[in-house]
Amino acid sequence: MTEMLPAIFVSHGAPTMPLDDCPARDFLKALGKNLPRPRMVLAVSPHWETAAPELNRVVRNETIHDYYGFPEALYRLEYPAPGSTALSDRVKDALNTAGIAVTTEPARGLDHGAWVPLMLMYPEADIPVVQLSIQTEQGPAHHVRLGRALSALRDDVLVLGTGGLTHNLRLLARGQVDAPAPKWADDFAEWVHDALIGGRTSELIDYRKRAPNAAVAQPSEDHFMPLFTALGAGGEGARAERLHKSTTYGSLRMDAYAFS
Ligand code: ZN
Repeated sequence: MTEMLPAIFVSHGAPTMPLDDCPARDFLKALGKNLPRPRMVLAVSPHWETAAPELNRVVRNETIHDYYGFPEALYRLEYPAPGSTALSDRVKDALNTAGIAVTTEPARGLDHGAWVPLMLMYPEADIPVVQLSIQTEQGPAHHVRLGRALSALRDDVLVLGTGGLTHNLRLLARGQVDAPAPKWADDFAEWVHDALIGGRTSELIDYRKRAPNAAVAQPSEDHFMPLFTALGAGGEGARAERLHKSTTYGSLRMDAYAFS
């Protein structure tokens, strides 16, 4: 029996990450080499938000440049990874079996939350990628449930949640990629870390009430939801391991976790 892949959560930071010299970029480059090579990737990014789950089902992914006012070079980056109609169908079956309805989207490619980390992890763009949307309004428990339904795919599929361990754009230290994290960010991140390592999923689901500075660390909550999907995809009683910890632009903690 082959060992299952871990489910992974990474923080993708600012869209400029492929151009920024920072520890998180180096980490993502190494992560692609250090993980067992997956046959396919299922990416869950906050930049595709829908009322009910949607799944792309394409032969080749378009690169969506879904950001504004950034350097011209960022609009020329392309990540033409193949899609996989077969994986899309497997994900749909797995979600349907768990009682979760999902619609497929035949024209959508990958947003920057998906392709920025994948470009660093797998620069050849030769691993097929499918993307699943998030539903922030349905909250953490819904996203854990999505992940649980996907955990059996980990035989050959890398379930990759991509978001931000803290994600406050209003409090960014603009232009200072190496600005240190403020205390509110560190306190929030360490609370999340302790709860993940301690396997306290129900406390995490209730993080809005329990975690220090939750409203400052995750004002829109969308960048936190993919963490719950990765946690769920680790399976019942998954063990969490922190793979990386750093900060960009002060308010963006760039931590990454594996669940297995
Ligand atoms: Zn983002």
